[in-house]
Amino acid sequence: MKSSPFILTVFATLLFIPIQAQEKEMCITLDDLPVVSYGTNEPDFLREVTKKLIHTFDEFDIPAIGYVNERKLYKKGRLDSASIQLLELWLENGYELGNHTYSHKNYHKTSFEEYTEDIIKGEVICRQLAEKHNAEFRFFRHPYLRIGRTKSRHDSLTNFLMQHGYTEAPVTIDNEDYLFAKAYHLAYTQGDSATMKKIGQSYLRYMEEKLLYYESMSEKLWGRNIRQTLLLHANLLNADYLDDLAEIYRSHGYTFISQAKVLKDPAYDEPVSKYGDWGISWLDRWALSQGKKGEFFRGDPATPAFVKELAK
Ligand SMILES: [Zn+2]
Repeated sequence: MKSSPFILTVFATLLFIPIQAQEKEMCITLDDLPVVSYGTNEPDFLREVTKKLIHTFDEFDIPAIGYVNERKLYKKGRLDSASIQLLELWLENGYELGNHTYSHKNYHKTSFEEYTEDIIKGEVICRQLAEKHNAEFRFFRHPYLRIGRTKSRHDSLTNFLMQHGYTEAPVTIDNEDYLFAKAYHLAYTQGDSATMKKIGQSYLRYMEEKLLYYESMSEKLWGRNIRQTLLLHANLLNADYLDDLAEIYRSHGYTFISQAKVLKDPAYDEPVSKYGDWGISWLDRWALSQGKKGEFFRGDPATPAFVKELAK
């Protein structure tokens, strides 16, 4: 019996797509909560950004986690209830929070004592809120992705985190969303919707390229696409574009998973053995630890010059 090419294509499609689609998983993490506001601190604006993000999490089944800098909860030295309410919105809607230090310190420029004090200072409000909402508060994200310039500096930090009930939360899809976000916000304050749109569209293209870049790095290192961890920031750009971005990830076959679940991928147990003054993706760290050099890292998508210029 002869099968028509059409029937064969249908068969191949039926067999192939589910196998590809089921493997791809991603955890979406947002840093610098409550909001990266670029000076626009009206409570209505901050609330709108937060609500839009949460709306997208709900719509796309994204069990997102937000990493908080508690310093941003204070206004003129006093706790600001409107800012605390933004964190409550996350928790009320079932989204977890994590520690990102109190004041966004760079571990490479701070003593161990000062840095760890900042971690403890950064959990005061969040622990209370998490308890109130029956949520856990157990993950830590390093500001600037600085984990220590040497193995011993990194080891002492991970020991400290462990002793205080924290797990470090690596990032695999690193990117410069903050440059796009700053440019976007400036255009927003100038009422320049044409430029906002241009930046938004460029951001989506760039983020899709970044996804492909890190997927291919994962394939080269692990022979498979590991569970990916995406780093974003809580800003207006992501409030406006996370739905489009989630649609892109979905079209690439991704489902969205929690911070706890992403870390169950054994890839994250792989130790890092090369250190430097880096704030980079863990895929880069694992590659460097395996002795990969220049050529291996080729093709990393760059932020367009016009975005960098606008973000200045
Ligand atoms: Zn940060």
